[in-house]
Amino acid sequence: MSPLLPHDPNCIFCKIVAGSIPCKKVFEDEQVLAFHDINPWAPVHFLIIPKLHLPSMAQVGPEHAALLGHMMGLAPKLALEQGCRPYPEGGYRIICNTGADGGQEVHHLHLHVVGGPRPWLKG
Ligand code: AMP
Ligand code: ZN
Repeated sequence: MSPLLPHDPNCIFCKIVAGSIPCKKVFEDEQVLAFHDINPWAPVHFLIIPKLHLPSMAQVGPEHAALLGHMMGLAPKLALEQGCRPYPEGGYRIICNTGADGGQEVHHLHLHVVGGPRPWLKG
């Protein structure tokens, strides 16, 4: 395994963070970026990513607790802003695919936030 770099020049989400690939931005601060999924499954479908290149949940350690907490804490607020209906009638799914068996295709950690009136394409 090669050592973890803060940015991977071959990673599509690092390129989005760097601005060399465009995205439809939902939110940004120093630590994270949120943007609409290019291939949405549902009326609301956006991704929350750390700006730091972490390949997946498998690389997360205690030093990332605050970052992960920040991402999870943002999800409900952004979900409502993006049009998810309030809990409990509404709500959303927060999904974090990890590894091949977990269905992960892009190896830069991301939370999917998926919601809006059903039916959805997936999930
Ligand atoms: P996963 O299977 O959890 O790795 O999901 C990766 C997600 O990233 C998929 O839902 C893709 O549609 C989405 N995706 C891939 N490339 C882009 C992009 N350039 N902009 C926005 N979303 C993307
Ligand atoms: Zn990356």
